[in-house]
Amino acid sequence: MKNSFGPDYASLEDADFVAKYQASCFCGVIQYEVSADPVDAKICHCLTCQRLHGAPMQWVAIFHKHHVRFTAGLEHLLLYNSEQNRSERILPCKISCGKCGTPIADEGRRMWLAFPSLFDFGYPAKVPEAFRPTCHLFYGSKVIEIQDDLPKWSGHKNHSELL
Ligand SMILES: [Zn+2]
Ligand SMILES: [Zn+2]
Repeated sequence: MKNSFGPDYASLEDADFVAKYQASCFCGVIQYEVSADPVDAKICHCLTCQRLHGAPMQWVAIFHKHHVRFTAGLEHLLLYNSEQNRSERILPCKISCGKCGTPIADEGRRMWLAFPSLFDFGYPAKVPEAFRPTCHLFYGSKVIEIQDDLPKWSGHKNHSELL
């Protein structure tokens, strides 16, 4: 297999890469790891996330691409740009497993927006502090009310109304 998702990402040849967390899709064909804590974590209630995830909201943890490397399954990744409705790697794009369909991450222009549900936090899960959401995005289109003290933005963080 190719050993990197692209020049912005770490590769299996990076000797100084130390895996901190491991992630895999449901069927296990896609495996990747990260070498750092996420820089932020959020919950998105937008209609696009609801539909693409078949879920009321999306939980995302944001990493620098150079802290991410694939260890298996690169050839099974399915890429989809929802704005242009094209199954191509046009950033930002959605990444999922071509075998089991698990949503893997959103690939942004600069950042890797990982879905923490794929990470191995043990069972019962001990979710590290850095993965805890710091705010809700697009809460204006929420379908489930969330009772917490986190800021709830009607759209994008800092560019919309606080609800
Ligand atoms: Zn899979
Ligand atoms: Zn969203």
